[in-house]
Amino acid sequence: MRIAMIGNGLVSNMAALYFRKQLPESVEIVLIGPDDRGGLPLVGESIIEITANFLETQLGLEDYLREHHVPKHALTYYFKLDPDNPEDRTYSVHSTESLPNPDGYEGSPGSWQLNREHFDDHLRELVAADSGIARINGRVKDIQIDGEGGHTLEIKEADGGSRTLEANWVIDASGRNRFLGKKLGLTIKPEGQRDCFWFRIADFDRSLLRNLNALGPEYDHYDRYYTTHHFMGHGNWIWMIPLKAEDGGELMSIGFVSHPDHYEHDVRSIDSFLEQVSKVHPVVTDLVKSGRVVDTNLLRRYHYVTNPTYSPDRWGIIGDASFAPDPLFSNGLAFVTLQIEQLGALIARDYEGNHSPEFVEKLATYFMGPVLSSQTTITNWYPTMDDAYLSSIRINWIETVYFYLFLPLVANRCHFDPKRLRLWKAMQVRGENPFDIPQELIEARKRVAKPMPDHFVYKGDEKLNPKARTLWADIDEVYEQLEAGSKVLAGYSKELLSRIDKLEGEGELMMP
Ligand SMILES: Cc1cc2nc3c(=O)[nH]c(=O)nc-3n(C[C@H](O)[C@H](O)[C@H](O)COP(=O)(O)OP(=O)(O)OC[C@H]3O[C@@H](n4cnc5c(N)ncnc54)[C@H](O)[C@@H]3O)c2cc1C
Repeated sequence: MRIAMIGNGLVSNMAALYFRKQLPESVEIVLIGPDDRGGLPLVGESIIEITANFLETQLGLEDYLREHHVPKHALTYYFKLDPDNPEDRTYSVHSTESLPNPDGYEGSPGSWQLNREHFDDHLRELVAADSGIARINGRVKDIQIDGEGGHTLEIKEADGGSRTLEANWVIDASGRNRFLGKKLGLTIKPEGQRDCFWFRIADFDRSLLRNLNALGPEYDHYDRYYTTHHFMGHGNWIWMIPLKAEDGGELMSIGFVSHPDHYEHDVRSIDSFLEQVSKVHPVVTDLVKSGRVVDTNLLRRYHYVTNPTYSPDRWGIIGDASFAPDPLFSNGLAFVTLQIEQLGALIARDYEGNHSPEFVEKLATYFMGPVLSSQTTITNWYPTMDDAYLSSIRINWIETVYFYLFLPLVANRCHFDPKRLRLWKAMQVRGENPFDIPQELIEARKRVAKPMPDHFVYKGDEKLNPKARTLWADIDEVYEQLEAGSKVLAGYSKELLSRIDKLEGEGELMMP
């Protein structure tokens, strides 16, 4: 059996390394891609626990990550109480309490913030050093799909030569070129589009990030700087990701993501970023102005999905070739790890002579469940992204669902293990979206005319499930995590609603 991997980016190399570890030696793996990225932008520095778990346990990269990248203690969200007043820097700040670690915060953070050039190069080096993975330096020009007799790829090599390659499975990881999705007409561009302008700065004064009035608890066993920071605005949000430069110095990646239906300005340069963002978050623009801009990038109306992503005809489409997400939850590469593990299971099954078109279709459908539910949740958030109070309710809900539902299910292989697949149904959107807050809480928000500091409920360790990354031998333990999560969510709703009732009873600022 031979697998042809199209692309030489992060995703193709991650998948090749994983397949090599999982599949028998007699399965040939051939990666076809150029040395040069061909002008495709490089983005995606903040990873979540799902991705970290995969890189550490499946690819064995924990020591490398600790040495070359900076830790990430989950996500920090800054919700501004008065977004129309640049003079007021009061934010309701929500972060996750990561578990105290005897080795200090450098010891074992939840995940990592990647310097992508360094990381992508490292994976290419690992692939080059692996004699079990062949590489063709070139581009795939065309393909004849034949799931039964074998696919034929036509390749233009970097030295100008042409050749063909036969393969039983083809995995397209060609990034935004979307080689197979375009050829087969599978790409869907949703109506709710996104624009993103991003850049990196060096030589900045990181202390300026603290020049705000932060409401909410701060945890003393890690440095909040080492989280992914999110500042929310009118129909837009900003990411700030601290990174380690090649020379060990500090870099900061900063991105501005907006929904064109809910944001009226056009942020596409440093000047327009400074002009618009200083009206809402001078804390961010002060930091940018203190530094030196290293590079800038722009993607406009970039959102798309491909459906299906796997076929009984023995092909798969993964990474940017299959979807371009809104990165609010930093879960792009987490979904990629799901794709890699699902395809690994499908190919292994085929190798054993048990190819099942039904199972391929089932996993393709199951893959889309959390992609759609998390993206829909983000889309629903944009009209009220500047609402500090509602946003705080959303994030407490979403993070609890992530740590008690999504992460344990993935850590326990419920997305591909046939014996555990029934648990994955919790991630499918069937009327109710697990990540989106219930209507009851949206209605409760409407009763509060002007949110004051007393209205906010903060959750740190409550939303963090300490057993979320445990792989349980007994499936009942996984059910217990889900039950524990339901209790946390019920307790949170109760606390929030009774606080609103109490403040209402005391004649606090409620709607008439
Ligand atoms: C704005 C934005 C922010 C994001 N932020 C995050 C984040 O914080 N965290 C996260 O986890 N994810 C994030 N993501 C997602 C993440 O960036 C992607 O999942 C990841 O970078 C995709 O890598 P890739 O290997 O699929 O694509 P690429 O890195 O683009 O690689 C594609 C490769 O295919 C090659 N190629 C193209 N055509 C051909 C061909 N015909 N033949 C052979 N080779 C070909 C190219 O040369 C290249 O080597 C973000 C995405 C966006 C859009």
